[in-house]
Amino acid sequence: MNLVKEDFIKAFSLYEEKALQYRRFKHADILPLLQAKEIQKRFTVEEIGRSVEDRSIFRLKYGQGATKVLLWSQMHGDEPTATMALFDLFKFFNGEADGFDTFRTEIAEKLTVYFIPMLNPDGAERYQRRTAIDVDMNRDARAAATVEGALLKTQAMLLKPDFAFNLHNQNNYYNIPGTATPVTISLLAPAYDYARSVNEVRADAMRVIVGINNILQEFIPNAVAKYDDEHTPRGFGDNFQKWGTSTILIESGAYAGDTEKLEVRKYNFIALLNAFQEIASGSYSVHDIADYNAIPFNDEKLHDVLIRNLAIEKNGKKMRVDVAIRQNEKTVDDGYYVEGLIEDIGDLQDFYGYSDLDVEGLQFIPAKLYSERIFSLAELSSSKVAELLKQGYAAIRVSDRVDGGMMHAFPIQILTDTHFKSGMSPMIGDDANFFIGSDSEIRYALINGYLIDLILPLGAGVKNRVK
Ligand SMILES: [Zn+2]
Repeated sequence: MNLVKEDFIKAFSLYEEKALQYRRFKHADILPLLQAKEIQKRFTVEEIGRSVEDRSIFRLKYGQGATKVLLWSQMHGDEPTATMALFDLFKFFNGEADGFDTFRTEIAEKLTVYFIPMLNPDGAERYQRRTAIDVDMNRDARAAATVEGALLKTQAMLLKPDFAFNLHNQNNYYNIPGTATPVTISLLAPAYDYARSVNEVRADAMRVIVGINNILQEFIPNAVAKYDDEHTPRGFGDNFQKWGTSTILIESGAYAGDTEKLEVRKYNFIALLNAFQEIASGSYSVHDIADYNAIPFNDEKLHDVLIRNLAIEKNGKKMRVDVAIRQNEKTVDDGYYVEGLIEDIGDLQDFYGYSDLDVEGLQFIPAKLYSERIFSLAELSSSKVAELLKQGYAAIRVSDRVDGGMMHAFPIQILTDTHFKSGMSPMIGDDANFFIGSDSEIRYALINGYLIDLILPLGAGVKNRVK
């Protein structure tokens, strides 16, 4: 049985794990799924160790075929997209009477697939890259100093897999070269030496990648790239390749508007299912390495906001510049907020923004703090905030705090003191709080890196906090 485009769509829609829909899920969210009776229907679930902070790490096994495949996800705690896709696969392989039974049997007869979801549960707990001892696990393949990295290395030596999948997320700013399209999935057959030599082990990884690229092009044409292939002697992918396992790196990237990366997760699911199919049938072996080489490398020219042709003034001198802004997520106890910073200023013609705006004829207007009175949070509303923004106020003071925390969703800076800095022109590293308009009217607000068109009603989805 050979799955085609429609089958992948059907498989995902039937088996997406609905319990995982928000990217900041933690070990406590996956634990009940792993301990549930249903998952053991066709998987052998085994605890293979515990993290530094004593969170269980599981290995799931499917099938009894001669070819061994090992996948692990989330060795970087803040890279959860593939973990979601692995749980979709667990549901899929436990399904039945849906037209996929022959496929499941074929995979189980040809392959033994081992999955290690969320290898860094302590990092996931904090939504941070590194482990609890602050080591980057993907630079720990050689030393195996972390208990979690040592676990993976032990599995490598024990199982000696034929194929391995190292599952990560890359940042949102990679684009397909020469285009504003974000890279949704990037792929790599990591190099096992500095010369980036290609032996049969690495060549097979490249062939599997060609197959993955072929299927993904049917869904997301021109949104697949290759990850940087520089040899990383401490990296797990590079070392697995060196140890004789054909190793494939899959980086979940970005898809415009997909904050929780549920689209990207679907393409992970499809990529992995396709890879299983091709490895089981052996069809990957006919792919041409030239097609791997033809996949473009990631470029990194995206920003969250790009303002083009903004008139600025400094020291009485008038100039025109482009301004790029990026938003960083800051994790706090009750979730996360966004911090928007000015990233670059100048000629940014070759760069792109998720929000990309030409403001020719309009000028930079410094933001002001409203200091005539102190507000209470209860009296704030979207219309009140919109009114303040139109008058050039980017910050207000409040006398109280948000219930149970500091988070709020208003596109205005809410302060408990008078500390508010706004430059007379944009400067790199400054908070992205300013206005754009003419002498007579304010047209756009930039608040915390959110671009707000003041002609439209205020949108939702702002992640801000009381400062
Ligand atoms: Zn990573």
